[in-house]
Amino acid sequence: MGKADLHTHTTASDGAFSPEKLIKYASQKGLKTLAITDHDTIKGYLEAKSIANEIGLELLPGVELTASWMGMEVHILAYCFDEEDKGLLNLLLGQKRARRKRMVSIVNHLQKQGVDIDIDEVKAEAGSGNIGRPHAAEVLVNKKVVASFGEAFIRYLSSDKLKDIVTEYSTLENIIEVIQNAGGVLSLAHPGPIYSSRQVNKMISMGIDGLECIHPSHNFTVQRNFTKTASSNNLLITGGSDFHGKGKTDYDPYFGIVTLGEQHVFSLKRMAQRRKEMVA
Ligand code: AMP
Ligand code: ZN
Ligand code: FE
Ligand code: FE
Repeated sequence: MGKADLHTHTTASDGAFSPEKLIKYASQKGLKTLAITDHDTIKGYLEAKSIANEIGLELLPGVELTASWMGMEVHILAYCFDEEDKGLLNLLLGQKRARRKRMVSIVNHLQKQGVDIDIDEVKAEAGSGNIGRPHAAEVLVNKKVVASFGEAFIRYLSSDKLKDIVTEYSTLENIIEVIQNAGGVLSLAHPGPIYSSRQVNKMISMGIDGLECIHPSHNFTVQRNFTKTASSNNLLITGGSDFHGKGKTDYDPYFGIVTLGEQHVFSLKRMAQRRKEMVA
């Protein structure tokens, strides 16, 4: 059975591994299929494509999009889209801009609380990666404002602490439309403890194609329940390790262990194929 990991991050967003290093690591761990799903960018995927090809690892087009929905930030995984689709590229540009603006607001918000942090420090930390909260967390740790990465989130960067920050992320409706038009499929990322079943059902009715049933944050019962929901709604089952390679999140040890069976990869590719035939 070929094992797949359809949820990973690289230096193109907030991961520590370069795309090349991640491809090699995936191959070492015996994975057959991988998706690089950086936050709101496909740069890492594009960079990794030829390397994956050389070593015979199947690399699916992927991205983890941040959608704005009902006052929340919802993570949506998208796969097997046409990576040159104009609508998609335009969406990603907007998301990048939204991330930059959001980080300026976050930094201003922290400064008002007396935290010693500057936007240029966060930008430097992000480097060429799509800027996000982990980069701010890193700055806070380096400056000894907090003792750990986790503490940075608990004290300053959790969604609860940042609930007053206004963002310009694309709406869920728009993201669904753009990905469908690009011939791709969508899966709700790590739904585990985040949403009510009403909310999950609402997102399914809006056109989400699958649920990320397998994720390190899901215990066996959660995984089983989402798998049942997916099966009874004829949805794709997706999964992955959410590897960031930093040794700072609890999920990193699950790379090569929390995996998805190849039958689910086949279903996903089949659905994307059909969608491409429909939009062609
Ligand atoms: P952002 O894309 O800026 O919203 O940041 C989301 C990323 O922050 C996630 O993919 C994780 O890497 C990280 N993250 C979110 N919450 C936590 C947390 N409580 N502890 C550690 N990392 C977190
Ligand atoms: Zn992340
Ligand atoms: Fe996520
Ligand atoms: Fe992720």
